Amino acid sequence: MIDSRCGLHCTGCAYKTSCGCGGCIETMGHPFHGECPVAICCQEKGFEHCGQCPEIPCALLTAYSSDPEQGDTPHGTRIAQCQKWQEDSIREKIVSLRMERQCLGGKADENEYLCLYRDMQPVRNVYWNGFGQPPTLSFRAAFDDIDFNRRRQFDRKLVKGRFDGGNLGWVEAEEMPLFLALYRKPIAFMSFEQQRILDLIEQMGPVTIHQIKEETGMLVKQITPILHRLQEAFLIYEDQYEADWERGWYRFDEMFPDVNSDAYTRQEALRIVLPRFAYRMVWFDAAMAKSFYRLPEKEIRTATDALTREGVFTAYGNGFMLTQDAEALPSYSPKKQRSVFAVHRNDMLYRAEEPRLKALAKQWTAGLSYDCEPLQYLLIDGEFHGASVGHFRNGPYDLNDVVCDLADAEERREKIIAAVRQVNFGKIPLRFMGKRIE
Ligand code: SF4
Ligand code: SF4
Ligand code: SF4
Repeated sequence: MIDSRCGLHCTGCAYKTSCGCGGCIETMGHPFHGECPVAICCQEKGFEHCGQCPEIPCALLTAYSSDPEQGDTPHGTRIAQCQKWQEDSIREKIVSLRMERQCLGGKADENEYLCLYRDMQPVRNVYWNGFGQPPTLSFRAAFDDIDFNRRRQFDRKLVKGRFDGGNLGWVEAEEMPLFLALYRKPIAFMSFEQQRILDLIEQMGPVTIHQIKEETGMLVKQITPILHRLQEAFLIYEDQYEADWERGWYRFDEMFPDVNSDAYTRQEALRIVLPRFAYRMVWFDAAMAKSFYRLPEKEIRTATDALTREGVFTAYGNGFMLTQDAEALPSYSPKKQRSVFAVHRNDMLYRAEEPRLKALAKQWTAGLSYDCEPLQYLLIDGEFHGASVGHFRNGPYDLNDVVCDLADAEERREKIIAAVRQVNFGKIPLRFMGKRIE
């Protein structure tokens, strides 16, 4: 709580009672001993506290902090407090703006949804999406986005591919050149089997895996990795509709003859997608972009450096913001966050922070004697504070506990459990913070 201009704590100060001091904010810089130059300076500059002042720590504040009789123990304590207030306030603004930009503070209409989807590409499925169905954006649509995306899939506006690290993801067809530039893994030397399957698809396509098996005599377990590798090279394309296990494989260039796979270099593509990432995350560092895009940090840094030189990004702490956000943030009024979402590991917010959240999950689950792999992560008031844990498998799975590092977790228990149930088909966790739920 900000209770003075200079970083001292008026709350609990002995002079409040012994001298009847009214506090420096309340008295507009006139505490019991008369006018305070620090408070007056701060007020005249229009700041709430000295942490908002670019001159901190100025000579005046330093002198007050290090005064032999009335100064801080240790010296600089009030300065550090002001700086912390400032960091907390910026963080609060970033979290609030991020929740808005993620459409978790207010749901997206179709136009905003299309922009959001574009910025989250490649979009990955979560297990509560149906089989063969393109991913939805959990919690974020103000309409039925299952149906909306299915229509986009039928119209081949939304297509599936193997992108980051060979993972399946979905992108808009017209953005394929961008994602080919980021992720395509060309095959330098085609093996005999790869060439054979590619030729077969060219001659007979579309073909299913069972047709390939019949034609080549190869086993499914031999064919599958070859198809995946050809898919990573964007030589073939898998067409699949809901509940249709018999997927058809096509030559990619037949299906998408207009896609120019050399339209961008990877650096050019990064300089297009990173500002989108920055917009949705508000603030990010290179490790977050690496975690989300699964591309080498060195290449990401080359792109962020170039974007910073061009003025698109402004360096902020050890990360970056869009320059327009860095300029607007001081006058932005954050909204008080009061929400709980149980977020899947394929969600953009998790993917951008995976290494940090994995490390946190180890702390949250330390010492638990039952299966406690994180199933969903708890985004509470815009920040990650826990997870639902258990053991996931296809079919009935174990939802063993809900772990949370919030001091008031017990008071928020009902809302947290409701959020977990929402994404677990109504299933109630066995425990909450280690205690059995009756
Ligand atoms: S302004 Fe008054 S209450 Fe606040 S720290 Fe100074 S003496 Fe204490
Ligand atoms: S030194 Fe000045 S600014 Fe600091 S608490 Fe006292 S009156 Fe407020
Ligand atoms: S840091 Fe110094 S210059 Fe800035 S508002 Fe505080 S007292 Fe004034």
